[in-house]
Amino acid sequence: MKEALICYWQSTGLITDRRLLEAFRNIPREEFVLQEYRHRAYDDVALPIIADQTISQPTTVLIMIQALELQPSDKVLEIGAGSGYNAAVMAQLCSRVISTEIVPELARFAAQNLKKAGIQNVEVVEWDGSQGYAQEAPYDRIIVTAACKAIPQPLVEQLKEQGIILAPVGEQYNQTMIKGRKIKGRLITEELGSFAFVPLQGSYA
Ligand code: SAH
Repeated sequence: MKEALICYWQSTGLITDRRLLEAFRNIPREEFVLQEYRHRAYDDVALPIIADQTISQPTTVLIMIQALELQPSDKVLEIGAGSGYNAAVMAQLCSRVISTEIVPELARFAAQNLKKAGIQNVEVVEWDGSQGYAQEAPYDRIIVTAACKAIPQPLVEQLKEQGIILAPVGEQYNQTMIKGRKIKGRLITEELGSFAFVPLQGSYA
């Protein structure tokens, strides 16, 4: 079932990076969904998790992670651990992921799932990631997996020069994926298409 999804990505040319393909092969998405959705773990759809949140659609995870251009030495900050799945895939391609989650029961859910999947280089922190996570800054890459009205300024400040940030920016139900690269302290951005994420909460949302 997982191979069918990977075959689809290859045949459509969506996946171009071999390392990324292996990262998806390595991570069992069934460990990150609720028991009752295990049989649908490789359907290319977002699925409900707990606290009215969702695990993102696999193709969305692919597009975002590919756009992050992860390097093996990278330290990555994620806003929105959710199920922990996106963090688990990224962790195959970089050195460390710090994944923030504002809902305590989801922070526990993500940490448990990551443990079940045997992932050791992700730290889940129960924290309002809209303000970044200054303790571990600066970051090579930052990924926001919840919809924001604008990219929160603390995230730009905590991104390294030449670093990349990805965030779905826009209204409820329809956002544009923004990819920004920090050059001389400012973000140079491009747009990667339309997506629909659950809303970012917190003080800089
Ligand atoms: N990346 C997740 C999907 C994220 S869904 C996965 O792979 O499953 C969005 C998540 O962002 C939700 O869990 C929500 O609780 C969380 N969230 C929303 N606002 C947040 C904030 N300010 N800081 C940290 N997490 C936040």
